[in-house]
Amino acid sequence: MPGTTPRELGLLADCESCFGLCCVALPFSASADFAVDKAAGQPCHNLRDDFRCGIHAQLRQRGFPGCTVFDCFGAGQKVSRVTFGGTSWRQAPATARQMYAVFPVMRQLHELLWYVAEALTLEATRPIHDELRRLLDETGRLTEESADVLATLDVGAHRDTVNTLLLRTSELVRAAHKGREHRGADLIGAKLKGADLRAANLRGAYLIGADLRGADLRLADLIGADLRGADLSGADLTGAIFLTQAQLNAAAGDAATRLPASLTRPAHWAQARSASGGPRTPAGSGRPRTPGAPGRRPRRR
Ligand code: SF4
Repeated sequence: MPGTTPRELGLLADCESCFGLCCVALPFSASADFAVDKAAGQPCHNLRDDFRCGIHAQLRQRGFPGCTVFDCFGAGQKVSRVTFGGTSWRQAPATARQMYAVFPVMRQLHELLWYVAEALTLEATRPIHDELRRLLDETGRLTEESADVLATLDVGAHRDTVNTLLLRTSELVRAAHKGREHRGADLIGAKLKGADLRAANLRGAYLIGADLRGADLRLADLIGADLRGADLSGADLTGAIFLTQAQLNAAAGDAATRLPASLTRPAHWAQARSASGGPRTPAGSGRPRTPGAPGRRPRRR
């Protein structure tokens, strides 16, 4: 592998280099997140011929907020430019189905690379750095495999292998504190204003629409936590681990929210600082996917 930063690993989405895969390969249902139904493999009606989104600047206003919180972790450009060598599904309809099958596999691999790379930046994980590096290299090698191999890869098994080290990472980071145990907990709409969640285990927790204003989330493990519509105004997320930009984008917050250094304050937080003063209405609906795969939609330019 060339390096360990998200940029060096190619984990930053580059929509300009992608054939709009998230807008074609993935399905979505009419809901608060999407204005219409779309089947997997069917191009979104807003996708233009140049693979850009025709309503990119008005996604939220036009009923597609779900598109603004998806992150492919760079899988789109990898599949488009590397696995399929720059030949699009429009140019080669015969390979389109395989491309659509490979994309979600690649996304999972890139997401795992993201977490392992983050784990390597943490001082607390020094005792397992060699194992983390080995897994980073192995996962990186998998992303270079052919379309045939990727389409049949047991990515779930590889995820389980990686998850063992991510769990160990979580334990090492949170070892000095007795954080609360909320793994996979149903905390939808929970009133957690000012809660002490320092070093809490919130892996895969459902925090949709939760009131987390002013909560102490330092060093919390937030991998796969569903933060759609959660209010993080004034919360302290310093040192929180495995929190992604997509999770943040799906939540609400304000200028007083303290973030991990690697993440940026979503632009819509400033606009969302509304008159209500209470927790925001969740943008999403129902229970989501598997922990470790937050969000699920595109943001094509
Ligand atoms: S970003 Fe959303 S609305 Fe735009 S083309 Fe893609 S799926 Fe359609």
